[in-house]
Amino acid sequence: MGSPERIRNVAKRVAKWARAGHQMVVVPSAMSGETNRLLGLAKELAPTKPDDAYGRELDALAATGEQASSALLAIALQAEGMPAVSYAGWQVTIKTNNAYTKARIESIDDERVRADLDAGKVVIITGFQGMDDGGNVTTLGRGGSDTSAVAIAAALKAHECLIYTDVDGVYTTDPRVVPEARRLKTVSFEEMLEMASMGSKVLQIRSVEFAGKYKVPLRVLSSFTDWNIDINEEAKSGTLISFEEDENMEQAIVSGIAFNRDEAKISVLGVPDTPGIAYQILGAVADANIEVDVIIQNISKDGKTDFSFTVHRNDYAKVMDLLNTKVLPALGAQEVVGDAKICKVSIVGIGMRSHVGIASKMFRVLSEEGINIQMISTSEIKTSVVIDEKYMELAVRALHKAFDLDQPIA
Ligand code: ASP
Ligand code: MG
Repeated sequence: MGSPERIRNVAKRVAKWARAGHQMVVVPSAMSGETNRLLGLAKELAPTKPDDAYGRELDALAATGEQASSALLAIALQAEGMPAVSYAGWQVTIKTNNAYTKARIESIDDERVRADLDAGKVVIITGFQGMDDGGNVTTLGRGGSDTSAVAIAAALKAHECLIYTDVDGVYTTDPRVVPEARRLKTVSFEEMLEMASMGSKVLQIRSVEFAGKYKVPLRVLSSFTDWNIDINEEAKSGTLISFEEDENMEQAIVSGIAFNRDEAKISVLGVPDTPGIAYQILGAVADANIEVDVIIQNISKDGKTDFSFTVHRNDYAKVMDLLNTKVLPALGAQEVVGDAKICKVSIVGIGMRSHVGIASKMFRVLSEEGINIQMISTSEIKTSVVIDEKYMELAVRALHKAFDLDQPIA
């Protein structure tokens, strides 16, 4: 939605689908750069205070980006001879809680939308926003239009939710790190959830959670193709995020390599091994509203143990300070050490459920590259390692190759 020309293109594409007999609800994002521009204006007027001091007004402000693009799209559709109507979230109504700048959708009233669809109109609903119980405009957090689209698709029991974006799908890993990375034709929503939570920033993670919960088939596809491409071809393009493990799913054991550079590792050494230490350490971190990722506790020796975990790199200094000033003295632990130059690399795949030896293959590949593993964590469909940040690209490339992700699936 970058320019009038781009909006006209979107209108032509939507009209193509509508003329092929589909009832269409479109959820536009703001024109590109607009949300940043608006929030930048606010920052100029209130440079020092944290964002949440002005939450209500920031949301009222940022929500206008999508209101403008939605109305413009309706105008463009009408100009194409396609009946269309645009609504802001509060007009629908899309009800959210009152957590400004990160609100969550609670309910969607589909009455008005259905009536318009039945009357043959394309319905356009602003992404990224809703209204709380008090009638205030709220927004869903950056990238929230994805979540709006999935939630609306769920409420209307849509056949499929198509997310047109600036990449043409979900890849086996980031093509900027591994040029041989391949686009996946399908990926399960569980795999997508793991990949999205580890920095594959194709979709807002909450939209994937929503899709899984309400079983909305989701397709990520490029908004940069010619609007006029064959509709059947377009319908099969991109990546389908599927909630069914059907026979059509690609049969790879590992579907992708995810990585996250923004982590830091912290170890509390010489902790007395008694009930409640995990709670004393991590409870304090949680109380400070800081998310913890990988957690490891060693077996104890002479009644003492070591306790390690990772946090977002932005929280590193805060956690070190918290541990040194509050937790360490209370615990009687010996020392806190940390490293903010680590990263996490993960292999993800639902095939790992039913295959043994996948994690050990990962460890072998890393050892052959001389990469030291600092921490390991696993889930049913994922194995993650924490390694020195400087080996991240090497590790991702080696794993991508070792698991044949650069080879087309037979
Ligand atoms: N315009 C909002 C943002 O930039 C929402 C979105 O694009 O999904 O975060
Ligand atoms: Mg977006």
